[in-house]
Amino acid sequence: MLRVIGTEYNPAHQAFEVYVAGCTRNCPGCHNPESHSFGKGRRWPEWLRDNRFKLGTRTFKRVWALGGDLLCQPDMVDALEFIKALRRAMPEHMELWLWTGGEPEDVPAELISWLSFVKTGAYRQTECSRLVRYDEDGIPLLLASDNQRLWKIKENSYEPCHTEKQGHEDA
Ligand code: SF4
Repeated sequence: MLRVIGTEYNPAHQAFEVYVAGCTRNCPGCHNPESHSFGKGRRWPEWLRDNRFKLGTRTFKRVWALGGDLLCQPDMVDALEFIKALRRAMPEHMELWLWTGGEPEDVPAELISWLSFVKTGAYRQTECSRLVRYDEDGIPLLLASDNQRLWKIKENSYEPCHTEKQGHEDA
């Protein structure tokens, strides 16, 4: 069963970051290698039971499911159940984002309708970073490498978010 390693609040993007355990991509230079194991953290139903109240506190606008990589989970039916349960526990106006090293074609069709944004593309440490805008009122988002993309999900299809500029990644 999918496990959640931990959470963090990201004030710059008003995001509640939820780190799922497990990733098999092994991107050289990964910033989060401690998340690669599937056995760490809490099983998602218990995690959600104890963290559900945070979703109603109005201290953030979006939930980011990152990790780890949800698309590397050995049981995608369970991963989909996690996303559905998380989405149902969130206020309607709140966005749910998926961060994956996979490409859009790797995202199961059943998953798309539950998501507001998807970040795709594995981390490549030799590439420059990419700055994208996803919200007229907010600050742009820095993607770690230029091959990565941020997509807005609209009526089950992908709309690319506008690239602001590119720069060099520090780490
Ligand atoms: S997909 Fe993300 S978590 Fe997985 S190895 Fe690559 S950078 Fe690390």
